[in-house]
Amino acid sequence: MESEATWRLGAFLGVLALLLLAERIIPWAQPRPLGARRWVANLGLVALGSVLVRLTLPLAAVGVALWAQDAEVGLMNALDLPLWLSLPLTVVVFDLLIYLQHRVFHALPWLWALHRVHHADPEMDATTGLRFHPVEIWLSMLVKMAAAALLGAPPEGILVFEILLNATSLFEHAAIRLPPALDRALALVIVTPRLHRIHHSEREEETNSHYGFCLSIWDRLFGTWRGRWEGELVLGVRGWRAAEEQTLPRLLAQPFRRLRG
Ligand SMILES: [Zn+2]
Repeated sequence: MESEATWRLGAFLGVLALLLLAERIIPWAQPRPLGARRWVANLGLVALGSVLVRLTLPLAAVGVALWAQDAEVGLMNALDLPLWLSLPLTVVVFDLLIYLQHRVFHALPWLWALHRVHHADPEMDATTGLRFHPVEIWLSMLVKMAAAALLGAPPEGILVFEILLNATSLFEHAAIRLPPALDRALALVIVTPRLHRIHHSEREEETNSHYGFCLSIWDRLFGTWRGRWEGELVLGVRGWRAAEEQTLPRLLAQPFRRLRG
């Protein structure tokens, strides 16, 4: 656990570099008037979110899990589960938790105003997977910290989950087109870019589907699976798609602004 930060950063940069390369080799075609001009804002949001979490919630989810382990707090610590069982269980339970959290962020108007910053990206590539309002990142960390304590999850499990969540978020937003057979096979288990794009459609019934992050089973289980979009796919959110809305200051302010007209 001592080299936690190195593992996180290494995995993040490695996956991001691989996906940016894959976007050149097997691109998914979409209109891209802005392209890399969105990157400063998308990366800026995740950087500010990370700083906010570090300054105000320095324990973070892994820290809470370490504390719970010491204090023997939480379900898994009470059951004294071996790591080979508690680690994969933590990953699955946390993936379900993030699925449910995602649905809540769509259902409550004030949370949607925050999460809309993510959806308002008029184009999709791996950096869209980093574009979350700092307050959403902060709230999500609070949820994970509470869950880590209640569940008594092993710190290793949380670390693996967070690295995985980060990597899958980059992957499912990547502008890549996988060979159809591979895509179908992967989609049986995990969320592929083709599936997640449906969630970024501006059509409400399509946005309100495919909430899953890592495992694709939750959408099948809870009835939010569509499998494809109807007609033309228009990315983004109506009214927030303009180029001048994609700067870091505008995106930070977006949840608190009303659309004129
Ligand atoms: Zn969403």
